[in-house]
Order: sequence, then C-alpha cells, then structure tokens
Amino acid sequence: MVYQTQICIIGAGPGGATAALQLAKLGIECIVADKAVFPRDKICGDGLSGKVAAILDKIDPEIIKKFQQEPYKQNSFGILFTAPNRQPVPVPFSLNYQKNKHNSRGFVSKRIDFDHFLIQQIRQQQKITFLENAHIVTHTLTPNGYTLSDEKEELTIHAQMLIVANGAHSRFAKETGGITMDPNHHIAGIRAYYNNVKGLHQDGFIELHFLKNVLPGYFWIFPLPNGSANVGLGMHSSILHRQKINLKKLLLEIIETDPILKNRFTGATPQGGIDGYGLPLGSKRRKLYGNRYVLIGDAASLIDPLTGEGIGNAMYSGFYAANIAAKAVEHQNFSENFLQQYQNDIDRVLGAELKMSTTLQKLASRPWLFNLLMNKAAKSAELRNLLTAMFAEIDVRKKLANPLFYLKLIFNK
Ligand SMILES: Cc1cc2nc3c(=O)[nH]c(=O)nc-3n(C[C@H](O)[C@H](O)[C@H](O)COP(=O)(O)OP(=O)(O)OC[C@H]3O[C@@H](n4cnc5c(N)ncnc54)[C@H](O)[C@@H]3O)c2cc1C
Repeated sequence: MVYQTQICIIGAGPGGATAALQLAKLGIECIVADKAVFPRDKICGDGLSGKVAAILDKIDPEIIKKFQQEPYKQNSFGILFTAPNRQPVPVPFSLNYQKNKHNSRGFVSKRIDFDHFLIQQIRQQQKITFLENAHIVTHTLTPNGYTLSDEKEELTIHAQMLIVANGAHSRFAKETGGITMDPNHHIAGIRAYYNNVKGLHQDGFIELHFLKNVLPGYFWIFPLPNGSANVGLGMHSSILHRQKINLKKLLLEIIETDPILKNRFTGATPQGGIDGYGLPLGSKRRKLYGNRYVLIGDAASLIDPLTGEGIGNAMYSGFYAANIAAKAVEHQNFSENFLQQYQNDIDRVLGAELKMSTTLQKLASRPWLFNLLMNKAAKSAELRNLLTAMFAEIDVRKKLANPLFYLKLIFNK
C-alpha cells in the first residue's frame, strides 16, 4: 500500500496521538503509523499529572470530561513524599481539592487503557488516517519529503514532513537527529502490578519514597482502582552501571525487607512480572528539529529529571509540533530554518521547568537536605503550601532550586 500525505506522525503514544488530534483540530490531514496493534501496553508508572488534562483541554475540553467518566482509572489528588528518614509529607495538587473531587485533574491509569482511550479519540477524526501494525524501519529524505517503509516492505508513505513520536528507542532520533542514549541523562525504570496493597491513600495520592539507597531515584506506589497499584523503582543509569545494581532484585528486596513497606505488602499478590524500560531525561538540551522533521516526547528526550514525568511533556511537545507543522503546510516551507520555531516553543514552555527540575534532582541526591526539607514541611503548613504550588507555578520551582532557600530553612528554626 502506498500513501501520500503532508504530515506523517511516527508513533501513536500520548505524544503522537496529541499531535494528530491538534492537527485535526487545525484542519490538517495526517497519517499516524504505529508498529503496535491497540490496545497495547507501555511500561510506565501510569501517573497522569495535571499537564495531561491541561493539554487535552486546549484541544477539546470534552475529551478530559469523557476520561473522567472512565471506570478503569484512579483519581489522584496529590503526592505523598517520604524522605530518606521516612518522614511522610502529603502534598495535595490543589489546596481545596476536597471541594472539587468531581473534577479530578490527576489520575493513575494503566497505559494499556489510557493510550487506547487516546486512540479512540483519534479514530473519531476523519482527518486522521491511523495505521496500526505499521513498523517503520526506513526513512529516506527525498527532494519532496521523507519516504518511509515498513519491515515487510508492504507499506510506503511519502510525507512532506515528519513528526517523530516513536519513543525512547527511536531509530530516527538516533540516526537523523543525532540523539544517543547518555547514561548521565537517563533513568532505568521497572514496574510491577500488585493486588491488595495495604494503606493506599483514600484520595489516590501517589507515593514517592526517596529511600536512601535509591537516591536520587525513588521507589513508587501509584494506586489503581480496587486496591491494586503500580509499584516501581527508577534509578540513574550511570549509578546503576557504576554500582552494578540489579533493579529487579532491589525492588523485591524493598518490598520484602523494608521495615515500613514490607507490612503493606504482606498478603499482596503480584499480577504479571516485573518489566523495565528507559527514561531519556530532559536534563540536557537537545536539537529537536531538522529539515522536514521535528522530534517529540521520549524521542526528543523530554522526561522531567526530578519526577520522571514524561506523558505530559510528550503531549505538550506533540501539541506544539502540530502547530508548527500546520504553519509549515500553510507556507509550504518545511526547512530546518522554518522548523526552528518548534525548538523555541519547547524552550519557552518546558525549558525553564526542565532546568529547575535538573537542579532539584541534584539537590535530592543529598539525603540530609531532603530530610531537612521534609521535616520542616511536616511541621509547616506554609511550606506544604509552597510544595503544592510547585506543581503549578514555575516561579515556586525557581525558589526551591535556589540554594539560599535551604540556607534560610537551616537557620530559621
Ligand atoms: C518505568 C517507567 C515509569 C514511568 N512512569 C511515568 C509516570 O508515572 N508518569 C509519566 O508521566 N511518565 C512516566 N514515564 C515516562 C512515560 O512512559 C513516557 O515519557 C511516555 O510514554 C512518552 O510518550 P511518547 O508518546 O513520547 O512515547 P511512547 O509512549 O513510548 O509511544 C511511542 C509509540 O511509538 C510506537 N513505535 C515505536 N517505534 C516505532 C516504529 N519504528 N514505527 C512505528 N511505531 C513505532 C510504539 O509502539 C509506541 O506506541 C515512565 C517511564 C518508565 C519507563
């Protein structure tokens, strides 16, 4: 089968799906090609932050309203941080969340469900041609665009421009974009599903346990409906290599022997195995565009280095990629120069946040500082409010990334 299109999106994860929905909204036809057949799983913590709701609202507020009705997701209203000294500090996403429980903006949803939900939105758009089981293996630049073909050489797509959204192992990002895996800017993550985990937060707070032997990574428990949970562990790849840590072994060790956590897992049963995947971090600025293409999501290494959140950033980048692609179609200009605007948009929207998270992630590797912050936060409503605001306001993150802030904490008894 041979297709001609102005825009082809490679990959239909949250980044690619968002780009397609935004293009459709702008009245531009596109092809989305994914190697998988949906519903398909993706190894993830399954946490969806307020960013996901915010970007879907920009496209069509009805989408998030529909998602709020889905039975398989868990509403989540905050984060429970646990410092290395095991001091727990609950930080709600919004101060008056108790009054707005009907309008949750944070969720935990298995990716097999969430990604399929987005695919269902795509299928409703006439302007989107969605091709499953389309494993793109070659991309060749021609004078008129890119020619793509699949493994079996049964599919050929001629596209004037590409939005590359095929995740952390993107061959295009490596071969054409020059982005290679850098262990200093990369996390290895594993996750498992458990039934009957005790003590899950009644308002679906996700739990980040900054255990001493895992810093600057963390152990997480993200609650799902009916007492099940996504349980996982993420650590910097450079540390893993240096210290020869076996993540799966460490996860089981924590569950079975940690003095606080082991009680919560007595009687809990694993559903399926423990699976792992890489998280390319946005702690290093990369070039995300070139002649006739832009990179988005994990293919662009845009994961938040502090929280490991990548879904929201993939969707934001998909949104801005669609906007620049629509402009490129309008001006019939797909040059590298023209597409540079995309990088400017990403720098403007995500740049400061990624920088701040990079600084905070470095601070988080010092257990004493983390303990100090959490001890103070446990006692001070003002500081907890500040941490809540960190999720919504970039200026607050700036404050938290400033060493002076911690000096004041130390000397302000
Ligand atoms: C263990 C772990 C835990 C995580 N936890 C969280 C979390 O709780 N919250 C959060 O926000 N983020 C989390 N992340 C990060 C998040 O999973 C990613 O940032 C997010 O999936 C990126 O979306 P994407 O659309 O860029 O790529 P993906 O979701 O990876 O989608 C890429 C798509 O491209 C397709 N594809 C790949 N190659 C090809 C090809 N050659 N041809 C055609 N199609 C192709 C794939 O089938 C896939 O559908 C976690 C990641 C890991 C590994």
